[in-house]
Amino acid sequence: MSESIVRALKCRECGQEYEIQPTHVCEFCFGPLEVVYDYEKLEGRFTRELIESRPQNMWRYRELLPIDGDPTVGANNGFTPLVRADRLAAALGVKELYVKNDSVCSPTLSFKDRVVSVALSKAVEFGFTTVACASTGNLAGSVAANAAAAGLESYVFIPHDLEQGKVLGAGIFGTRIIGIEGNYDDVNRLCSEVAGKYGWAFVNVNVRPFYAEGSKSYGYEIMEQLGWKAPKHVVVPMASGSLCTKIDKSIKEFIKLGLVEDNQTAVYGAQATGCSPISKAVKENTDLIHPVRPDTIAKSLAIGNPADGYYAHRVMRDSGGWAEDVNDAEIVEAMKLLAETEGIFTETAGGVTVGVAKKLIEQGRIPRDESIVLCITGNGLKTQEAIVDEVTKPRIIQSNLKDFDALAKADGVVL
Ligand SMILES: *Cc1c(COP(=O)(O)O)cnc(C)c1O
Ligand SMILES: [Zn+2]
Repeated sequence: MSESIVRALKCRECGQEYEIQPTHVCEFCFGPLEVVYDYEKLEGRFTRELIESRPQNMWRYRELLPIDGDPTVGANNGFTPLVRADRLAAALGVKELYVKNDSVCSPTLSFKDRVVSVALSKAVEFGFTTVACASTGNLAGSVAANAAAAGLESYVFIPHDLEQGKVLGAGIFGTRIIGIEGNYDDVNRLCSEVAGKYGWAFVNVNVRPFYAEGSKSYGYEIMEQLGWKAPKHVVVPMASGSLCTKIDKSIKEFIKLGLVEDNQTAVYGAQATGCSPISKAVKENTDLIHPVRPDTIAKSLAIGNPADGYYAHRVMRDSGGWAEDVNDAEIVEAMKLLAETEGIFTETAGGVTVGVAKKLIEQGRIPRDESIVLCITGNGLKTQEAIVDEVTKPRIIQSNLKDFDALAKADGVVL
């Protein structure tokens, strides 16, 4: 077992440090708290060889994840494929394109299994026995599944109008699932009150600093899988904006530790036009994130008042990236494009990422001759409503060759 290099929780605004504990806001200025580390303690002993010698899951980077002992939840999660996407690259007119495919992340087919593994392992260390979350869909399923496997009680709170795949994908695990009449921001507001009163570990409320760190594993894997290289450009879907900031943090950490060279990675954020408070702020070059009422098929990204919006904006600005958004029709078109070129069925959030990448390439914001990584974060089987009327339906025929011959002939098949 490796010694933890976690130093403290630190306020992102005033810099005040706190002992490690289940809390997420600064007592002095109400700023958000972040886990900080003593990187010097790793000098010379956190090497590529050591990491490569470990099992292929997200815990191969455990020194940089904020738990003390061995992971007790999600010990096998993470390490998804990084796919060289040449057919999609040709369609988009770029040279070197990769898809980091968390649509097949274990066990619940979204990148949320990363954040939940860390949050619940930490919750167990803190002594919690009930875990909970405010979710746009994927988080509910991941908390429910990982809690079930670890023998923890769970409560998951979701907006009442989520896709069936998300609702079933949580309910099946025997969690207590609560649908709130309202949008995610209403769910989140209630959960802050419940967290204070019931003393549960809400993964994205009171243990949010630990939860958010789990996203870094997505970035570490990209760099290792590129052959210990940081990409030139990375396109990230944004809900609260947390993943975007943590991919940036992962790159800075690997540079600091000498695991990769600084490649001046530019980070781009992707949102749906129907819920684009962060991309709007970036495009208007303002620090102020104006909350919106979400109206989009990309429900997993539908956070109208994003907690990390300000920090995500700063990452995009400082890294030389940018942000864009795409409408519902563009999202569906992009989901089909990824499926038809690369055989990857992503959910609406993935359509947002691919659609925004296409737009940024067309705008000349992302150059066509440098390496680009697209973050595909969730699975299409969970958002079937979005495409059910948009994909090819089976043509029904009798089980006889004559009927099929007629159909093949109509298709222009030549024998
Ligand atoms: C939650 C989620 C995101 C983005 O999450 P952040 O809150 O921005 O970290 C992206 N894609 C999918 C599929 C998600 O479920
Ligand atoms: Zn503070």
